[in-house]
Amino acid sequence: MLEHLEELGVRQVDWVLHTHHHRDQAQGAGRLATHGARIGVPERESALFAQTDAFWRLRKRFDDYDGSSLWNTLARPVPVDRELRDHATFTWRGHELLVQPTPGHTKGSVSFLTTVDGLACAFTGDVIAAPGRVESIHELQWQYGMPDAVGAALHTVTLLAGMPIERLLPSHGAPMDDAPAALRALAGNLRALYGLLGEMRANRVWTTWPHSVDQPKSHVLPHLWANTHALSNTWALVADDGRTLLLDYGFPSWDHVFADLRFVEHTLDELIPLAGITSIDAIIPSHYHDDHLAGVPFLQARHGTQAWIHASFADIVARPDDWKLPCLLPTPIHADRVLEDGERVRFGDWSFDVFHMPGHTWYALGLVGEVDGTRIAFTGDNLLAGALSPLRAAAPIYRNRMRLDSIRVGVERLMAHEPELLLTGHTGAIAVSRPMLDDFITWARRLELAFTRLVAVPELIDEALDADLAWIRPYRLTAAPGTEAELVVGVTNHALAPAEASVTLDLPDGWMADPRTAAAEIAAGATAELRFRVRLAGDAAVGRRIVTADLVLRGRHYGQRAEAMVDVVAATQARETGQRDV
Ligand SMILES: [Zn+2]
Ligand SMILES: [Zn+2]
Ligand SMILES: [Zn+2]
Repeated sequence: MLEHLEELGVRQVDWVLHTHHHRDQAQGAGRLATHGARIGVPERESALFAQTDAFWRLRKRFDDYDGSSLWNTLARPVPVDRELRDHATFTWRGHELLVQPTPGHTKGSVSFLTTVDGLACAFTGDVIAAPGRVESIHELQWQYGMPDAVGAALHTVTLLAGMPIERLLPSHGAPMDDAPAALRALAGNLRALYGLLGEMRANRVWTTWPHSVDQPKSHVLPHLWANTHALSNTWALVADDGRTLLLDYGFPSWDHVFADLRFVEHTLDELIPLAGITSIDAIIPSHYHDDHLAGVPFLQARHGTQAWIHASFADIVARPDDWKLPCLLPTPIHADRVLEDGERVRFGDWSFDVFHMPGHTWYALGLVGEVDGTRIAFTGDNLLAGALSPLRAAAPIYRNRMRLDSIRVGVERLMAHEPELLLTGHTGAIAVSRPMLDDFITWARRLELAFTRLVAVPELIDEALDADLAWIRPYRLTAAPGTEAELVVGVTNHALAPAEASVTLDLPDGWMADPRTAAAEIAAGATAELRFRVRLAGDAAVGRRIVTADLVLRGRHYGQRAEAMVDVVAATQARETGQRDV
């Protein structure tokens, strides 16, 4: 943009006003500031411009249940000249801009309402990208698993639709001249999504609200026991000789969430004598989330238990520092056995079919088999039934990774196995009938339709749902000044045709990358991995630095879509701890 200002007859940029903190909006702010522009930002997001070092230093990498797009914060701070308060007026050379709070796309987003050449205009950031549609969907969640941002966006859009605005000037997409109609159409589409997600909110009211200590164990079937009062349910399949297979073993209770999700042993002291357990031979976690597998390292160390981990998340739990995902357990887990899709697992006289079950997260399995004449299915957080709702998924949670059809496909795969009893992640054992699952599929299909109607480019709906269109691995590493590290940048092409991608690393001053820019052609639906060697500056100060990957895909500049944390440590410390510390 800076290069083209002269062609437009612009000699000097006085002010740049930002609608929100995302990198695609603001990554050039530092450069503009060095050219003499002053920077105005929403008061609510001021720290996300001026205090980014503190933000990144405090950013949680593990046990992180923040569903929002805060990760899309600038790598380096920019000076803030004006904090724009909600409902205040910003005046520039006789032009008055009203700062309108428009939460939704981010919590602190604002729009600027003003008159340009006699026309009432609204600069709305990422509130709307086309009549009835938004640029992307994955930002529309704040709390983990909640429809809050959709509800706030609906309120925002409804308010704007009632204002005397003639022209909408969005951050992405073309200006819109019938503003009220464009906004009303968007309100309709947001309302449809909000209604469907509301069923999930009701799902969070669970029938058992557990006590930390008094946790009665249930005898579900002659050979199947459970503690459905721990934070996530623990299931125990106990053979006649006492050999036991556990399904999920996480935190003791909800109270432990506020001890930073610290694991302490639970359930087994009582269950071992009660169920006649003689050994805990293996544990199969339903998915990679800490609340379902935090106890696995303890079982391996104290009980000699084998961890049988599905292939979709074996690397995640083995190298949690490499991944940018919510709900990661910081302690690495070594898989004693990796379960492949379509594999049959035997334990004693039982055998279970393993299948990939996306929905709640991409990184999950489903397990079905017959126990005591009942077809049981272990489905993690893909199927929960709250006190106020029918069977629904703990989804969509965009940061857990999903595609448009994930929620439906996971359950369709399950239905092919004709389950009778669901062993859920948080809502006990549920007898399941075909109509219950059909009703789930209907909900999931309606959700797919609501997503598709909401997004500006429906053919790229999977991209609109993907917070990790590009990623950097490892997500966090430690390195000493002057040393080299390898970074891999992944880019997914969600289109139906091959696409050209080019990635340029953005580095702290004095750091070098080889190559600086890498390009690839990516097949439809595939993810390309581009490799970079990064050399830290010899005089790099100790502390956390952020490296970003600037993405051009299909000729479109997406900005710094991915980031990684490099913790610069003194050379002696790097030798002592190795490249990875845990
Ligand atoms: Zn944005
Ligand atoms: Zn989960
Ligand atoms: Zn869970």
